[in-house]
Order: sequence, then structure tokens, then C-alpha cells
Amino acid sequence: MFSKPVKYLLFVGFFTSLSLFAGCDQAAKTEHYDINETNPVLLISIDGFMNEYLDRNETPNFDHFLEQGVHAEYLIPVFPTKTFPTHWSIATGLYVENHGIISNSFYDYELEARFSFGPPDDTPNDERWWGGEPIWITAENQGLTSATFFWPGSEATIDGVQSTKWVDYDGSVPDITRIDSVMTWLDPAGDVRADFATLYFSFVDSRGHSYGPNSPEVDEAVKEMDELLGYLLEGIYEIGLSDKLNIILVSDHGMAELSDEKVIFLDEIINLEDVDMVDWSPVAMIKPDEGKTIEVYEALKANEEHYSVYLREDLPERFRFRDHYRIPEIIMIADVGFTITSRPFFEDRGIIAGNHGYDNRAPEMHTFFAAKGPDFKSGDVAPPLESVHIYELMARILNLEPAPNDGNFEEVNHLLSE
Ligand code: AMP
Ligand code: ZN
Ligand code: ZN
Repeated sequence: MFSKPVKYLLFVGFFTSLSLFAGCDQAAKTEHYDINETNPVLLISIDGFMNEYLDRNETPNFDHFLEQGVHAEYLIPVFPTKTFPTHWSIATGLYVENHGIISNSFYDYELEARFSFGPPDDTPNDERWWGGEPIWITAENQGLTSATFFWPGSEATIDGVQSTKWVDYDGSVPDITRIDSVMTWLDPAGDVRADFATLYFSFVDSRGHSYGPNSPEVDEAVKEMDELLGYLLEGIYEIGLSDKLNIILVSDHGMAELSDEKVIFLDEIINLEDVDMVDWSPVAMIKPDEGKTIEVYEALKANEEHYSVYLREDLPERFRFRDHYRIPEIIMIADVGFTITSRPFFEDRGIIAGNHGYDNRAPEMHTFFAAKGPDFKSGDVAPPLESVHIYELMARILNLEPAPNDGNFEEVNHLLSE
């Protein structure tokens, strides 16, 4: 557990004044970036972090960050609002139908393999899964240096290329160690001198799943995250990058409270023998056996309560979830708070306290975006922002030619200083 809260809270108080005289000894250290004529970018994901978490907790380091930089009223993630699709959209600027990471775990009938980040499959390192070009590869391809300390997809090669520094995912690596490593990689006096780096923290999301978004356990996690942010800002000061580094703090989705009263038993609506389940909840992705599609769809439509069911081609355009071959014929989206399961699974495993994955327009799935640094405006609150535009934003700051993507720089231009 993180153990120096007082120091970092105090740190907030004199952070501004310290950075006033930090300029002199920073000059030598930042030479590398002056040559590049771009300021480096650190992209940080706090998984499952909701805006309202800040409203109900004392978070001095976040408050200070928001005051110094610019933040959106909220961030609209892509659909489905699960960790792997959403992170990959932030990294590539693509909607899910254009990048193909349709969930955290799904079956691909062409590759005849399951994509899954845990045992027994654990396949994400295979580059055939990942459509599009993430920003760290765009940077590497155009002569910059990327260093990723976790990000879904960062372990895979993309057309044979990887970040200069990357790490195989291991959730047990302490958060402080993650930060310390990235500081070494960003340090202008170090060997790597990364132009682009990522950090990823999962514990707020885990706490939300185990105890629900409204729990004291989540509040504790939010305060821990605030202390980590203080530690990070101090680290940035120590390597002389306080005035040089652009920091983007983002989350991938929100979190909804679940209940064992809000359960949809799929095996009581359709015969599970007639289908393959590509994914289960809260978005059931259903591949009916040959000749069974209409029968299965009609049974689901006739019982449509607490969920919406669509034939793939009828899914509203706004989901941007129709075109990829991995998306199966029937998509069933549970109403927020509901869980799609089967009776035996429910009896065996019950329901967790919180989940996400629902309609990306649901307020509970909306999430967090804040940024600060020399290229960002200061003290501004921006209107809601769609996460697919972040790729274009980062490419612009790093002076990179963006790969083809669904984002639009005009949607994020207002976040940048003149
Ligand atoms: P979710 O199940 O959608 O809540 O996903 C959150 C979980 O994804 C985290 O708790 C991690 O266990 C896992 N995760 C996040 N990033 C990675 C990664 N790069 N590789 C493998 N697993 C990851
Ligand atoms: Zn997540
Ligand atoms: Zn989660």
C-alpha cells in the first residue's frame, strides 16, 4: 500500500512556486526535446474512473491538475464500454467496428481462436488480433521513441514494430514501480528519453467491480489514486519536465451498480444449444447455428424486457458496431444495471457488485478526460468529448502524420493553447 500521503498532499501546496524556479536546472535536461521541437506526451489510463468519484472525495492532487490544465465535462467512450475495445480506440482513433477488438474476450471464427487476456487462452500478443495503428507505433515509425508501461495492445507487434520500451502485462507490479520506471524512460538525462509514454492503473476499476461504484472501498481507491498522482507529479518535477511534459489523464469507461434482482436468464428465453456465445454480458454477442437466426432473434424480440436486441445490420449506426466480421448476427444489450447470464452460471457464481460494457451513451458509462502541459489550455472546462479523437490530438502534439482513423482534429483543437 502507498505510504506517504502527507508528503504528497503538502507537495501540492508548493508545487506551483517550485516550478517557477525549476527552469534553470531544467534547461540542460530538456535539450533533447528542444531539438525535436515537440513536447513529450504521457498518456495515463485510470481504468473505470468516473467523474463523480472526484465530486465526492477529497482529491487535492486531481483538483490542482484540473485547475492547471483543461478537462472535458465528460468523455464518451466507444461501444461496447469494455476495457480492451475502449483502450484500443483511444490508442488508434478507430471505432470498434474498424479495429476489431470487439470485447475483452471473444471468439474469431476465421482465426479459429479465442481472444482473451487471461488463462487458458491469453492471446493478446498475437498481432493478427489488433486492427489499426496505435499512437506509440505511429511515433516509432516516424522516428520518435515510445515507452509503454501497460496499455491493452501494447505487448503486440504492429506490422513487426513495437515500442522501444514495453512490458508484458502483470497486474501485480506495484503502481509506484510503474511510475518510477516511466520517469526513468522520460528522464531527459536518461538513456531512453521517450517522446511518448503510457501508464495504466487498474485498482479503481477492480474495486468498482468488487464493491460497486458507490462503495466506501471505491472512495478509498480514489484517494489512493490521488496520492499516486501527487507522487507522479513530484517525479516529473524531479526529472525536470514540469514545464515540458504534456500529461493526458483519461479513463476507459464508467461503472454501474449491479443487483441480483436485475438478471436476464438467456437459457429461459432461447435454447442455448442453437447458438454459440461470442460474449455474454452486458452485451450478449450471439452466433446462431446455420438456419436458426430468425427463430432465435424472434424469441429474444418477443421477450424484450430490460434489454434491446438487434440483428447486427439493424444496430443503430451510432454504436459503430456493425461492420467487422467478428461481430455476430445477434446483439443483445442489457439495460444499465442488468446482467445477462444463464440460470446454472448464476446459481454457481452469483453477480458481481459493479460492471460496465453498456450503451456508451448511458451516463453511468461516461468517463474522465483531463490534460495539462505546455500544449494545453489552462483552467478550461471543455464540452463532452468522444474518445476516438484523442489519437488525433496526440499525433498533433507530437507533430506526427496520423494513420487513417475515425477521429477528427477539429473536435479537439479547442483543448490546445495557441
Ligand atoms: P475489465 O474486465 O473490462 O474490467 O478489464 C480490466 C482488467 O483488464 C484489469 O483488471 C486487468 O486485469 C486487465 N488488463 C488491463 N490491461 C491489460 C493488459 N495490457 N493485458 C492483460 N490484461 C490487462
Ligand atoms: Zn476498463
Ligand atoms: Zn472493469
